[in-house]
Amino acid sequence: MKSLDKKILVTAALPYANGKIHLGHLAGAYLPADIYVRYQRSMKRDVIFICGSDEHGVPITITAEKENTTPQNVVDRVHLQNKATFEKCGMSFDNYSRTSLPLHHETAKEFFLAFFKNQILVEKKEQQYFDEKKQKFLPDRYVEGICPVCANPEARGDQCEKCGSYYNSTELKNPKSKLSGETPTLRDTTHFYFPLGNYQKRLEEYLKVSNEREKWKDNVLSACKGWFNDVLRDRAVTRDLDWGVPVPLDGYDNKVLYVWFEAVLGYISSTKEWSKKVGKENLWKEYWHDENTKYVAFIGKDNIVFHCIVFPAMLMAWNDINETKYVLPTNVPANEFLNFEGQKFSKSKNWGIDVDDFLSLFPPDLLRYSLTMNMPEGKDADFYWKDFQSRVNNELADTFGNFVNRTFTFVFKNFEGKVPPVSDALSMVDDMLVNHLDWTTSRSSDALEKYSFREAASCIMELVRVSNKYFDSNEPWVTVKKNPEQCATTLNLCLQTIRTLSILFEPFIPSASQRIWKMLNLKGTPSEAGWESASKRYLEVGHILNSPEILFIKIEDETIEKILHRMDQPTNDSSTEFTPIPSGLGVTNQRTNELTNKPTNLPAAAGEKTKITIDDFKKIELRVAKILSCEQIPKSKKLLKMKVTIGTEERQILAGIAEHYKPEDLIGKTIIVVANLEPAKLMGNESQGMMLAASDDNGKLCFVTTEKEMQAGSVVK
Ligand SMILES: [Zn+2]
Repeated sequence: MKSLDKKILVTAALPYANGKIHLGHLAGAYLPADIYVRYQRSMKRDVIFICGSDEHGVPITITAEKENTTPQNVVDRVHLQNKATFEKCGMSFDNYSRTSLPLHHETAKEFFLAFFKNQILVEKKEQQYFDEKKQKFLPDRYVEGICPVCANPEARGDQCEKCGSYYNSTELKNPKSKLSGETPTLRDTTHFYFPLGNYQKRLEEYLKVSNEREKWKDNVLSACKGWFNDVLRDRAVTRDLDWGVPVPLDGYDNKVLYVWFEAVLGYISSTKEWSKKVGKENLWKEYWHDENTKYVAFIGKDNIVFHCIVFPAMLMAWNDINETKYVLPTNVPANEFLNFEGQKFSKSKNWGIDVDDFLSLFPPDLLRYSLTMNMPEGKDADFYWKDFQSRVNNELADTFGNFVNRTFTFVFKNFEGKVPPVSDALSMVDDMLVNHLDWTTSRSSDALEKYSFREAASCIMELVRVSNKYFDSNEPWVTVKKNPEQCATTLNLCLQTIRTLSILFEPFIPSASQRIWKMLNLKGTPSEAGWESASKRYLEVGHILNSPEILFIKIEDETIEKILHRMDQPTNDSSTEFTPIPSGLGVTNQRTNELTNKPTNLPAAAGEKTKITIDDFKKIELRVAKILSCEQIPKSKKLLKMKVTIGTEERQILAGIAEHYKPEDLIGKTIIVVANLEPAKLMGNESQGMMLAASDDNGKLCFVTTEKEMQAGSVVK
């Protein structure tokens, strides 16, 4: 194991104080950060873990208006809520701050003024919508109108949620102010811009050098490359809004700093707050102003540009003009997305589960373990309830829990609950176990150093499997009579292994680890004992143990069925009603229309989506299929369930066409299906493919078929 004397600064993305933390957030940034920090603490390194709420920006003011309250009330509530949730799932932040604090405002203003005085910022005049009645400039999200691309009448100022197009708010047809409902006018306004493009060369060099020092993740590097290829543009630093950090200049009333500019500085202000709390006001500088500090920023993939490009550029700009220099991120190990039961987490579509609700059903260790083993490290991953159940039951309960329990039970039955003596001459099998303790400790350490959390946890779980085999093959229930000395050695080594596991598993499942520590009747915590002591045999012969308790309770099928059933129930609020639409969506652009149940008559222009290569297209396996049977899914207005044959096999396919076809009209029909789509669970039924369909002018869906009768299974190309 490498020794490391430098300080380690770990930050996790500041969650936006406009909603609850869900499983995707946890798997993306917070859990990996927490595991990493706990491991570093166990390695006795000087590490601090910094986070906090991001409390400014337009979505918060919109929520406040909806709730008829102030933005401050919204963030007060959400901040406390999220802070409590993080505590419940064991996030061990050294500080969890908030960007609405004066300390943060001061920090953000200091950066802005330094840039302003040194003429780093560019001032630009531009036109922006203005609400004459309310006498206010309107940020994009406060303007609504007709989408210039698909004619959706409820398009947002900068983006159409139906067709997904981005545009300039001035391109919107028939714009209306969301504040007054009036048609806004265009007025001149001035804003400051940060010239990100000026830093492109240095940023590319910074990434290259950082990656040479310590390998960055491929998904992060390729995202950055994409941004560099697009050429970095000036980014507006200010906007016309009254909720945020006010622009600290005379004559700039009703302007605040853009959230992207000040939120990342929240890491610095949160560290300052921590310093004050621990009574050493300047301590934060020892982390931020030391170029040897190892600064690791944990984020989800949607934040890559801000942490790998924008924030480093801001710090470079600061460092150019100041004596005291900030350290840039040493690594930004961003994770990809975690999906939920085959689809993206979506608050508006009521799809997914937040951490709070999860923890009302299951203890945090189960969540932490299953998310770690399924972490979206290199690519997107999926959370499925059934997977969760089988991980908990098979790995935590039947493998780990069982090993601990059988060892303790045996020791209490045959050795009066005391650590039995160990023989001086270990057998080959004993030696193999002892070597495996060393090997696991160093291999999982290597994996954690390179942010491979899944690999580290798998490696430790492998030790549990090895230990169970060791127990089995040594047959202590036989040797207890025939060879008591060997039996004692077996149990001694099993107990030593349990101590090892308690230390190695601590970053992942801290509360189970602590309970094992107590069962072993050891002082302090596994982390205080330290990672480097993990493989040493510290349990003394004759040491008295505490009686065992069950570590993990298995999850019944019934519990999971109940959850799946509840998930299938549409909510009462029709505006957020979620009906999964699995069919016909590849052909037209109607997916979002289906979800909101307001079809528009205008199909989007063809070829508007990102171009793909012929190789991309070849990845999609299209087959001719014949419908063998078809039925309505109970309680669903839209879904039909059909059995189809694709020649070599039968598939169950769900399609959102119940409003357009009667089941009996479809039986025997020839359709085209996407045959290599990941199966998805909808209303408790699995769909093993997708049926192609197109919408007509009235929004009626028509399935796609072949011009003449074809054999099921024929390839469509
Ligand atoms: Zn549109």
